[in-house]
Amino acid sequence: MSEKSDPNMPEVRNGLVYTCIHCGRRYDIYDFIYTCPSCKSLLKIENTAFDDLKRIPAETWKQTFDARRNSNALEIQGIFRFHELILPMIPLADIIYLGEGQTPIVRANQDLSAWVGAPFLVKNDGLNPSASFKDRGMASAISYLNHVIRVKNLDSVLGICASTGDTSAAAALYLSYLPKSKVSAVVLLPKGKVTSQQLSQPLGSGAQVIEMPGVFDDCMRVVEELAQDYHVFLLNSKNPVRILGQKSYAYEIAQQLGWNTDGLTVVVPIGNAGNITAVMEGFVDLYELGIIKTLPRILGVQSHHADPVSRWRASGAYVPVKVSPSVAQAAMIGDPVSFPKVRQLVERYFDDRFFVVSVTENEIMEGMLKANRHGHVVCTQGGESIAGLKRALAEKLIPEAGQFVVDSTSHQLKFASFQQRYFDDAFGPDYGITTREELKNAPVTLESSASKIAQHLGLKRKV
Ligand SMILES: *Cc1c(COP(=O)(O)O)cnc(C)c1O
Ligand SMILES: [Zn+2]
Repeated sequence: MSEKSDPNMPEVRNGLVYTCIHCGRRYDIYDFIYTCPSCKSLLKIENTAFDDLKRIPAETWKQTFDARRNSNALEIQGIFRFHELILPMIPLADIIYLGEGQTPIVRANQDLSAWVGAPFLVKNDGLNPSASFKDRGMASAISYLNHVIRVKNLDSVLGICASTGDTSAAAALYLSYLPKSKVSAVVLLPKGKVTSQQLSQPLGSGAQVIEMPGVFDDCMRVVEELAQDYHVFLLNSKNPVRILGQKSYAYEIAQQLGWNTDGLTVVVPIGNAGNITAVMEGFVDLYELGIIKTLPRILGVQSHHADPVSRWRASGAYVPVKVSPSVAQAAMIGDPVSFPKVRQLVERYFDDRFFVVSVTENEIMEGMLKANRHGHVVCTQGGESIAGLKRALAEKLIPEAGQFVVDSTSHQLKFASFQQRYFDDAFGPDYGITTREELKNAPVTLESSASKIAQHLGLKRKV
């Protein structure tokens, strides 16, 4: 069956432009730019033909997206199920699909829900190919790059990013899929501030890994200068093409809830604020197309060791902070690049439905350990989300009645070293963590003898 014969398959549509969020100037979507050439502010991607999409009835959208869920076409198995809302100018043949997106929603265990204070759902983005949500934005950025390389016949493109670990894992993975004759990969990491699993990922994908002293914010400044002054392709979420793909997280939640977002709160950890920007933008798209009737509440969560957005929400003043060590290391960022976008989205759409809580390192560790003892596989940032929901409910910041979806942004195994440090009481005093015996675990070594093991376990012999 040819593509055209299936009425549910996406078609190429034009209309995307970069728009400066400050001065409103527009730029050609085929250029590699990451800030406004005129005023240096952030860029977003706007669909100038969005009104054409608005003319399509909401019911038609829902039927189309639901029909695509049953399709076997590989290109639309992932984020490009929502092709019209992501990169409609890309023909299906240019899409790079490595298995990202369409991650499961899991009902939180009952005892865990009781501990948190309400029943909730976990959307597990650790089940992506590089084991974090970053694959969503990387699938859009690399599909875009693949498309532009073909259309403009480019070669020797250098893909580059700064990272707290997961962006570099995703960037290296997706870049390594493109022809080596066209593309190479470089990632910049703060030395000692990514886990060994995260470091192994870009190395395994064959990227050039550069470690630097300092924290993520320092790496970000370097990569911003490189992107400004040299010919590179920036793969941080400052590049709005990344945000496009990450919007799919919101689309999927809506679809998985049967397009019913009444009373919904979505809980998202905030680091560089790319993800929470994309989640809000995604829900706004669905709202403007009439696909959902209400915008959800958004609950952002930060560690009190890296909480500039939480401070802004409490005081009204945005001031970058100097971070202290955090187990939610992937979100340990003192001056989030996408903050101006968050502020604008909140002012325009979410003012009465945007909350941010800050939680302690202890709460984050306990959130993760408790969840994983009850059938989940959340990372420290997932633990942070759960701790944030618990705190927001306890403080009555959000009503107890409603639907809650918690973002577990990566897989437990990427952050196993923090679990181990908890078990070993090996956290330095700067984390401020007091461990609890009942949350620890360790292997025991015994002889390979059934009777010795039975004795250790206190088993009763069958008569
Ligand atoms: C990147 C990352 C975050 C933070 O997302 P931002 O878009 O930087 O706010 C949270 N959790 C994990 C696992 C991450 O990799
Ligand atoms: Zn501008």
